[in-house]
Amino acid sequence: MGSASTTTPLPSSPIVSINPATGQPLGEVPDMGADEVRKVVASARAAQQAWGQLSIEARSRRVLRFAEVLMTRAEEVIDLLVREGGKTRLEALGMEVVLVADLVRYFTKHAAEMLAPVPVPLHLMKHRASYLHFTPRGVVGVIAPWNFPFSIPIGETMMALIAGNAVVLKPSEVTPLIAAKAREIYLAADLPPELFQIVTGRGGTGAALIDAGIDFCVFTGSVATGKKVAAACGERLIPCTLELGGKAPAVVCHDADLDRAAQAITWGGFANSGQVCASVERVYAVGSVHDQLVERIVREAKSLRQGDASAGGEVDVGAMAWDRQVDNVEKLVDAAVAAGAKVETGGKRKPGPGLFYEPTVLSGCRQDMDVMRKEIFGPVIPIMRVESEDEAVKLANDSHLGLLAYVFTRDRERGRRLAERIEAGTVMVNDVLNTYACPETPWGGVKQSGIGRTHSILGLRDMCETKHVNHDRVSLGREVWWYPYKDGTFKALLRGARLLFGKRPWQR
Ligand code: NDP
Repeated sequence: MGSASTTTPLPSSPIVSINPATGQPLGEVPDMGADEVRKVVASARAAQQAWGQLSIEARSRRVLRFAEVLMTRAEEVIDLLVREGGKTRLEALGMEVVLVADLVRYFTKHAAEMLAPVPVPLHLMKHRASYLHFTPRGVVGVIAPWNFPFSIPIGETMMALIAGNAVVLKPSEVTPLIAAKAREIYLAADLPPELFQIVTGRGGTGAALIDAGIDFCVFTGSVATGKKVAAACGERLIPCTLELGGKAPAVVCHDADLDRAAQAITWGGFANSGQVCASVERVYAVGSVHDQLVERIVREAKSLRQGDASAGGEVDVGAMAWDRQVDNVEKLVDAAVAAGAKVETGGKRKPGPGLFYEPTVLSGCRQDMDVMRKEIFGPVIPIMRVESEDEAVKLANDSHLGLLAYVFTRDRERGRRLAERIEAGTVMVNDVLNTYACPETPWGGVKQSGIGRTHSILGLRDMCETKHVNHDRVSLGREVWWYPYKDGTFKALLRGARLLFGKRPWQR
């Protein structure tokens, strides 16, 4: 992590973007150094001055154009998401394009109300009044991962812009072209060019962005990098939101609808090739339903069609986006099998070209296996038999991560009770993944899954400074506690305080 004075020059070899399903290069982008990043942040700051002065309604009207242009050019974006991200067309549409269009519609409609001043009634000092006033932070640095290269950074970007900020985005080196396409659409929507800019590069460019004078950092990525980002922000006292890794458990109760549970878990484990921070990463099934559940998940998994969606044709599971991630999946599965887990289906990397790992279901998993403890981030569903729902909740909570969690039961009351006991930012009952697509709900984790929330009114207000304004309601010459301090005032205040805060006369 570079600091203001010690940032070493960054390596300048360009970054080549690759189609992970074919291994073919798609294009290249520069690896930008600290000086360039600093210039970009400075020009974004200048553009923010005028933008921040506009009313929220005016900003919302202009940002809405982005969603309109996006929908007219949806195929172009989907095509690139498939080619650079290895996704299926349906995932590119539903989890990326539609998600952003809906988010923009939602926040452009509701932001003015969400960021309207909030009165704070004062319980004691009735002669004065307080309210919260939300003002833009300035320049927001968005640092993004490769698994949702459009919906994560562009959703954050649009929220930051609506709130009156400028944005500088550092996309992952694995998926830089999608970020460039998003900016193309932004420019086509006739938004101010310097207000939203992109700095491409490797990890060092992300570090340089934090060091370049931003006012807020929205980071999404791994726990390891998140800790570095938190330290760098801490050193500069820049507030940050950290959206980090997950290890979502699915608790399957004795009374679960097993067909629904099996289908949900299969989709939740394999969608986006399992490269979702909210993926079903471990299943705890109570003994009475365990075998039937495994059988159904295996049946579902075996029916999936895996392949290169960029070649056309219907595909359920696309390519993985990054070779290092395939190595990680291979290592975790091999270690689990060596420790006694059973491969019910899948269990190996497919021969190239392209980065494919077979949709894999493991049974006989134990809590001490890495596959049940570390983030897999690939198409693998490890399943463990448990005695009871209580044991499942205990094991679900036995993790350093806590982003999403899932409970399957036909008894809604039981579902809510269990949900409230599981340590996670979001717990869904009888469903998986979906709430990222609900812009009105907060997204974020507990424990090492992160700090802060994105989306929802909480995420939008986090894009702002919360200013507290306190003003007079009636004109008084002076306050009673001001100088000079007098014995009489002391006695009167003490009498008043006893009356207010002591035992009430009628309670004595
Ligand atoms: P990384 O942490 O490796 O990278 C995230 C971003 O940080 C990338 O743009 C990366 O650049 C950049 N970066 C790397 N080093 C630094 C640094 N020192 N300072 C600043 N920025 C840096 O994560 P991945 O891209 O591998 O993403 C996968 C992870 O993201 C998983 O753990 C997943 O769970 C998590 N995630 C969390 C989500 C959530 O909402 N909680 C959502 C989606 C993913 P570069 O790529 O060029 O190295």
